[in-house]
Amino acid sequence: MIVLYPGTFDPITHGHTDIVRRASRLASKVIVAVGSNHSKSPCFSLEHRLEMAEYALKDLENIEVCALEGLTVEFARRKGANTILRGLRAVSDFDYEFQLAGMNRKLAPDIETLFLTPDEKYAYLSSTLVREIARLGGDMSQFVNEMVCAALEEVSDEQTGKNC
Ligand code: ADP
Repeated sequence: MIVLYPGTFDPITHGHTDIVRRASRLASKVIVAVGSNHSKSPCFSLEHRLEMAEYALKDLENIEVCALEGLTVEFARRKGANTILRGLRAVSDFDYEFQLAGMNRKLAPDIETLFLTPDEKYAYLSSTLVREIARLGGDMSQFVNEMVCAALEEVSDEQTGKNC
């Protein structure tokens, strides 16, 4: 089984890494596809998010990190993946993830969505909250790796006025 894990990863957190680690035990390959996501206008550039994801996952085997191009299901097909991986934290994720999985099934009935839950210590963790903690000068070391920590500190120091 080859799985495609699409997301914004703005930035990648230990929650995302936990999901990839679990999937890598089930699948022969996990492709982490970092999306441009125009609707979210990410804080970090696509190149930077790719670099941080590569670094966060460097110790895992059978992982590929790449930029997500076009429709997720089409991209999965092009990559030879028959499964889309998503992480489920709390009930609050459910509505959106259920809708997304349903739409993807309509578009590509042959591709399944696989949901995994993270270790409970990451169940409340999101990239949005991590960015907010960084902006307010909080300690992020239990949520993200050192490269991401440094990048977040740089962004909050710059005080660019961008909503990061
Ligand atoms: P998207 O913008 O597509 O939701 P994200 O980068 O925010 O992209 O998340 C990608 C996937 O990872 C989503 O399925 C999301 O629910 C999941 N995810 C995010 N944070 C965590 C976490 N702490 N634990 C488990 N899954 C997570």
